Amino acid sequence: MGKGVLTARNFAADGGARTNATSAEVFTRDTEGLRCEGVALSTIADDAGTPCFVYSSAAIRSQYERLYSAVKQVDARLHYSVKANSSIAVLSLLRELGAGLDIVSGGELYRALQAGYNGRDIVFSGVGKTEREIEEALRAQVLMFNVESEQELHVIQDVATRLDLIAPVALRVNPEVLVDTPHPYTRTGEKGMKFGIPFDEALAVAKVASSLANLQLLGLDMHVGSQISQFAPYEVGLQRLLHLRREIERETEARLEYLDIGGGLAVTYDVERSVDVERFGEVIAALVGGSGLKIILEPGRFLVGNAGVLLTRVLYRKRSGGKEFIITDAGMTDLLRPSHYNAFHRIEAVNPTGKTTIADVVGPICESGDFLALDRQVDDAQPGDLLVVRSAGAYGFVMSSNYNSRPRAPEVLVDGDRYAVVTRRESYEDLIRNEIHRPDWRS
Ligand SMILES: *Cc1c(COP(=O)(O)O)cnc(C)c1O
Repeated sequence: MGKGVLTARNFAADGGARTNATSAEVFTRDTEGLRCEGVALSTIADDAGTPCFVYSSAAIRSQYERLYSAVKQVDARLHYSVKANSSIAVLSLLRELGAGLDIVSGGELYRALQAGYNGRDIVFSGVGKTEREIEEALRAQVLMFNVESEQELHVIQDVATRLDLIAPVALRVNPEVLVDTPHPYTRTGEKGMKFGIPFDEALAVAKVASSLANLQLLGLDMHVGSQISQFAPYEVGLQRLLHLRREIERETEARLEYLDIGGGLAVTYDVERSVDVERFGEVIAALVGGSGLKIILEPGRFLVGNAGVLLTRVLYRKRSGGKEFIITDAGMTDLLRPSHYNAFHRIEAVNPTGKTTIADVVGPICESGDFLALDRQVDDAQPGDLLVVRSAGAYGFVMSSNYNSRPRAPEVLVDGDRYAVVTRRESYEDLIRNEIHRPDWRS
């Protein structure tokens, strides 16, 4: 790494906005080809190798500021959903902007604390929290647990009693709204889903929560899905939660402070209309403005999705069965979304050849489901050429795996005219680090 290059460690101290570009503007072209902010992607590919994830600080800042200004007319805080992209460098950048976090595991809590967050900045969501995770979160003094079942309340109560602490809790309620998302796996707020407490049981569960001595019922929470571009699910869900709040306050001692409206705001992968964030803010404000509640949002994808690309090199071309194939050094182990969600990601050449072709863009993994794009008009890229897979900042690296014993790709953060490797590429040694060559047999 050269002079003036950021590392994850000094990033926090060294931050501050250097550019004001929006995510649409941060990936631009000049004579060196595609750039991320002020850095040529070919430079990053030469330095960090491929495949490699590249994130723009300016794009993340700009999305954060946009959403924050849209909702700041209400008493709101953005708790970034760590699972979208849990790189400590990204978490640090968002901490400087004032974000809190939404976590779903003990591992994410660990990352959050490593990135300099306090417990008070963190809400703990997730349908299957273990006792160990609950204890860790209580010791870290998280702002609250978003509780997903009555049984979970009892487990939190037991752990809190053992530690002689009071556990702040919110109930994650399934508002049972119909949500239109591009893929069923990203819907969470419909009847019959594993997430949340069924709406018609929520009042009874609230009564249990307020009767348990080591719990303090502080809020209500919902998360209706991901990649949502309409406001109706939020509106209907919020109305139901506000109604429930009145019932809870009428029938229990609890006085609620927080209303967590979840994440799910969509980003543009292809030609979808982008979310009207300002209008979203108005809709939220109209519903909760007079409620006296503090509002929590849990955006993940919206903040980081379009801030990142997956940089990959073409290995081979071939024709088979009348079809054209572009074989790249990135595959489903790096970016699972195309094969797992049938997701569309734009693919562009860093230095276009000037010709296009219709091809399947596939990875090197021994699976027919290993593709980045099918039957797509793309640049007629030849072996050695660089491609970018756009919109890979969310649910990209975090879903990557070592399948086929492939070391995971590095992550690079760009900030203005400088860049830093913030996650090293895994080595072969990393792949077998936890394996025991001479097993210690026991009986
Ligand atoms: C995944 C998740 C989010 C973030 O979803 P996005 O679609 O990335 O905004 C927020 N809250 C909870 C509870 C989640 O599980």
